Amino acid sequence: MNTVTADVVVVGSGAGGGTVAKELVPLVQSGKRVLVLERGPRFRDEEFDGRELEMAEGLYLDSGGFLTSDGAMTLAVGQAYGGSTVTYTGTSMYPPDRIIEAWNVPGLRHDDLMERARKYVRENNVHLLPEKEINDNNRLFFEGARAAGFSPEQFPVNVKGCLGSSLCNLGCPNGAKQGTHKVQLPEAEAGGVEVVTRADVLEVGDRRLKVRVRPKASEAMGTPSEWEPGDYLVKADVVVLAGGVLGTPPLLFHSGFDSHLPRLGQGFTCHPAFILVGEHAEEITNDVGHPKSFFVDRGEEEGYVLETCMYFPFVTAKNLTGFGTDHAVFMDAYPRLQMILVLACDRAILQNRVVADRAGNPIVHYRFTKAVKESLAAATRAAARIFFASGAVRVHAPLADPPRLEKREADRIDSRVLAKHFLPGSVSVSAAHLMGGAGMGVSIEDSVTDSWGKVHGYPWLRVADASLFPDALEINPYLTIMALADRVAEGVLETYS
Ligand SMILES: Cc1cc2nc3c(=O)[nH]c(=O)nc-3n(C[C@H](O)[C@H](O)[C@H](O)COP(=O)(O)OP(=O)(O)OC[C@H]3O[C@@H](n4cnc5c(N)ncnc54)[C@H](O)[C@@H]3O)c2cc1C
Ligand code: SF4
Repeated sequence: MNTVTADVVVVGSGAGGGTVAKELVPLVQSGKRVLVLERGPRFRDEEFDGRELEMAEGLYLDSGGFLTSDGAMTLAVGQAYGGSTVTYTGTSMYPPDRIIEAWNVPGLRHDDLMERARKYVRENNVHLLPEKEINDNNRLFFEGARAAGFSPEQFPVNVKGCLGSSLCNLGCPNGAKQGTHKVQLPEAEAGGVEVVTRADVLEVGDRRLKVRVRPKASEAMGTPSEWEPGDYLVKADVVVLAGGVLGTPPLLFHSGFDSHLPRLGQGFTCHPAFILVGEHAEEITNDVGHPKSFFVDRGEEEGYVLETCMYFPFVTAKNLTGFGTDHAVFMDAYPRLQMILVLACDRAILQNRVVADRAGNPIVHYRFTKAVKESLAAATRAAARIFFASGAVRVHAPLADPPRLEKREADRIDSRVLAKHFLPGSVSVSAAHLMGGAGMGVSIEDSVTDSWGKVHGYPWLRVADASLFPDALEINPYLTIMALADRVAEGVLETYS
């Protein structure tokens, strides 16, 4: 076993870990050693070629098809230098005031998070795309939403030199998307932080970690690890866990922390989502152009958000309900499809949680509540109205029976789309906004960490990722994760000042 000594070790290099790494550069400049250990590989720019199956296999945990324990929902998380920011779409939303207030975490203020989020809005080049870069799929959503009485808003996105290839969720082939792999991690490395890829942290003990560096298989994408393959014992004064919701809580369980932290794994939420498609009579630009420009936020009123989206043929096929001819009708119409992602704003409940199996792999238990089913039905009705108002002739709606609405039925949407048609397992639900499992709060009675990500009872151990969320954020979370990670980094710097 090789032994390595550092001052600070960060586990994971995604939105949280990448942010902490960059913010700790001053520590390196003062002579300290900061390591980032990342399980996934480091991809070369030319490897992002948009091939759907190969990229999904290389970039995502379980190729993007990680299943909840009952098999009713897939969860998407990235595993790479940059974590899920390599595969996110880059829609950049500030933390909502009402949600941070409702979290009620002593010491966590909305204005503090906003100030930190603004820093990353600048660093990551967040802006609104000009009108000429908006494709038909997005334009139709905007026009249809207005005509149907909704208030669509434009998503700020973090791109630089976007060529509109619409492949964001397979890793941007043009280096345009400004994730932590493009901004914070390169800056951290330039400042002397060491990032080790293919380094799987297996266990965390008192200021020490068991790490396995895996060899690169000859056919695998990405570069070999920066370290020789093998087992390592890494010692550090401060350990920052940023492995994400399917990384951090399972690692803590596997390392035995659950006996001291009764709230570990609780508070899991994920904005369960599915896609709806509307078929137009003529071809529209849908898979060319940035995929996600507009949204309708009904979170506060009705518990859902609608977003524009455009998925690749395999993901689209997987998400459409039906078999044989029913299914083929929509897939044949791919060049004429308009697409909307509906997301439910779920609430933390006791049954929904992340744990680990004996080997330390994540297990997610998730039950769809009545409120979530009602939100998904309301969202589907709203999306169907938007499709028809924008000129669609037919809508694929999994909560209708049969799951297809013709234009002549546009005045019967309310009676055709009902929550009772939501049968877990029969509707293809997926989620990419995983939150909770090591939530912030006051003490071990209600949480795992304090508002600075310090794990209760373990002053050397911090959490700096989406598992800190005590409940759902109700909007796209990456900027809030970065703002929280920024606080964690500040806390680490203070211990050395
Ligand atoms: C397809 C997709 C689209 C999305 N689009 C958006 C969007 O448009 N806007 C938005 O705000 N959010 C979006 N998100 C969500 C956002 O990307 C995540 O919420 C965010 O990246 C989570 O940050 P994190 O630091 O918690 O974890 P991650 O970014 O997932 O990073 C965790 C990293 O830790 C590593 N890791 C885990 N365990 C270990 C271990 N034991 N040892 C070593 N390394 C480990 C993982 O390999 C991973 O690289 C999207 C997500 C996906 C998957
Ligand atoms: S749409 Fe823009 S950001 Fe997305 S993959 Fe294409 S070039 Fe990259």
